[in-house]
Amino acid sequence: MEDTGAFKDLGFVQLNRMLAPFTHAGVGGPAEVLAEPQTREDLARLVRICSAQKVPLKILGGGTNLLIRSAGVSGVVLRLAQPEFQHIDITGKTVRCGAGADTLDLIKACSRAGLGGLESLVGFAGTVGGAVVNNAGDERNGIGQLVRRVEVMEQSGQIVLRDSEELRFGDHSSNIDEPVILSVELVLEPTAETQLVRRLRRALIRRMAHQPPVHQSIGRIFRDPRGLDAADLIAKAGLGRTKLGAAEVSDRNGNFFLTNPGVTTEDILRLADLVRERVQERFHVSLEREIAVW
Ligand SMILES: Cc1cc2nc3c(=O)[nH]c(=O)nc-3n(C[C@H](O)[C@H](O)[C@H](O)COP(=O)(O)OP(=O)(O)OC[C@H]3O[C@@H](n4cnc5c(N)ncnc54)[C@H](O)[C@@H]3O)c2cc1C
Repeated sequence: MEDTGAFKDLGFVQLNRMLAPFTHAGVGGPAEVLAEPQTREDLARLVRICSAQKVPLKILGGGTNLLIRSAGVSGVVLRLAQPEFQHIDITGKTVRCGAGADTLDLIKACSRAGLGGLESLVGFAGTVGGAVVNNAGDERNGIGQLVRRVEVMEQSGQIVLRDSEELRFGDHSSNIDEPVILSVELVLEPTAETQLVRRLRRALIRRMAHQPPVHQSIGRIFRDPRGLDAADLIAKAGLGRTKLGAAEVSDRNGNFFLTNPGVTTEDILRLADLVRERVQERFHVSLEREIAVW
């Protein structure tokens, strides 16, 4: 960015702030501008300045499905880290939730209220906004099917509601393309406590059996090619436990990489390139990266 002057006066930005502490893998360089607005008005001002000055604006959720290069990110990185964007309100079966809320906090609040449906999200971190834009979950239950409405901010700073009829959720994807998801309305199912506990436990056991430990790994690296399973292709190509630097392909699920101490974003990206080449050579299938790279 040529001039960061317009942002300096905003009062809720930091210049040249390291982003590694805000990512799941704990890696990545600084943001030219890191913004953590306190109110929607703050956010609208920021979005308008970015649009007017053609400065790229990126949203950092829990940083569990993105990698930030060591060189850092030019432009503005936004975190919805203030209470205005993290509320969770439950009325009957309807849950209204700020996009910056932790998915784990959401699951806890809904479980306490006797509401089920979010079990496929248990066991990995991230924010509600990140989960909705990526339709996170498992192969049968993406969060998208529970979404009644999302509130988004357009490039003009205007807030609009998008109802479920206009929303499309696919395999770890959605058609939400506005710059910022602000909040989400979900409809969940009243569920008996014993049943909820059983479902949550089953989901956790399943995850532990099929994925490496959450705090030492990053994923999902690749999208599943149509009709195929990326982890399966990686395993069949004999790539489990392949290492580059401190990044290592998990032998439990090849679509997750272990992040050993000292790992860098570049280790992970080089390993992803190697895996992609080997799978291409062996099966003539081109793996597309799911994890975002900044
Ligand atoms: C160990 C581990 C296990 C995982 N297991 C699963 C799994 O079983 N199923 C699954 O689906 N995923 C899984 N993931 C991937 C990831 O956790 C999910 O995709 C998660 O929902 C991403 O949320 P986040 O807040 O961390 O997003 P981030 O990683 O911060 O961001 C991902 C993308 O979402 C965008 N984004 C984030 N917030 C907003 C917002 N408010 N508005 C607009 N865009 C936004 C970002 O700009 C970025 O492009 C796993 C990840 C890890 C590390």
